[in-house]
Amino acid sequence: MSTTIAFIGLGIMGLPMAKNLVNAGFTVRGYNRSPQKAQDLAAAGGQAAGTIAEAVDGADVIITMVPDSPDVEDVLTREDGILAHAKSGAYWIDNSTIRPDVAKNLSAQAAQRGLKPLDAPVSGGEAGAINGALSIMVGGEQADFDAVSDVFAAIGTTIVLVGPSGSGQTVKAANQLIVAGNIELLAEAVVFLEAYGVETTSALQVLGGGLAGSKVLDQKGQKMLDRSFEPGFRLALHHKDMGIVTAAAREAGVAIPLGSAVAQLVASTVQQGNGGLDHSGLLTVVEALSGKNQS
Ligand code: NAP
Repeated sequence: MSTTIAFIGLGIMGLPMAKNLVNAGFTVRGYNRSPQKAQDLAAAGGQAAGTIAEAVDGADVIITMVPDSPDVEDVLTREDGILAHAKSGAYWIDNSTIRPDVAKNLSAQAAQRGLKPLDAPVSGGEAGAINGALSIMVGGEQADFDAVSDVFAAIGTTIVLVGPSGSGQTVKAANQLIVAGNIELLAEAVVFLEAYGVETTSALQVLGGGLAGSKVLDQKGQKMLDRSFEPGFRLALHHKDMGIVTAAAREAGVAIPLGSAVAQLVASTVQQGNGGLDHSGLLTVVEALSGKNQS
């Protein structure tokens, strides 16, 4: 009998991930708050569920992919939510990026109810979701991780168990710190190069071949040059993640001075009404600080 997966949250990341699970041969029942996206999954060979209860009923694996800690808590614990309707023994994989302490707490609640929880945030962006090439950092029990390896293999290529419950989210917080810092410095370099009238496409090409090269440069460089900031990964979500890493570092007594500065720049971009832009739109704040407003 084939594995049935309930997929909750069919946004920029969730929908292509769910489609990849369909293509891998799983039976996938999708639920989305606004129903059209569940129809999009149905058109791609999945099934559309009208409620969370309907999606998770009898499912072997339940995946959540919603924005923030309160959203995951809501879909898990509300009256018609996952805990109330999932079958005992089902695996619950949370691919959302949320606070590590909340992940640990919700995982404990799920385990109490007989579920097998894995916090499994992802990295790789929309392109990684579409191509099934995500990096997945997982917190939880080894046996549970092993049991759903075929599910992870359908959506990711680098899949690592990093420790007990909550650890996946801790690693993801570090990921978001590194990515935001990279984007900020790339944005500063682009505005700097443009100020000198350098041919920027050539400049990024040669920078990409040396130690300054990075996946951030590869994926976001041209978008910055084109001022093409359609998400992708919304700045409002990266603002959430900078809040997570800033609070978690403070809790651990770790200084992240550059990360804190970048967090302020991300916050400023969001406050200026640009939270809906892709995170490469951090360039707009560098331009504003430099009195060069092309975007
Ligand atoms: P998104 O496009 O905003 O999608 C979020 C989905 O969750 C939407 O379908 C939304 O439904 C649904 N949702 C929101 N609040 C909900 C609630 N309270 N109850 C039920 N459903 C709710 O976000 P995304 O970019 O896919 O990101 C999802 C998660 O992945 C976030 O934690 C993000 O940080 C993380 N992530 C994103 C990327 C990326 O590049 N985008 C990369 C790695 C990780 P509606 O359609 O009704 O709004």
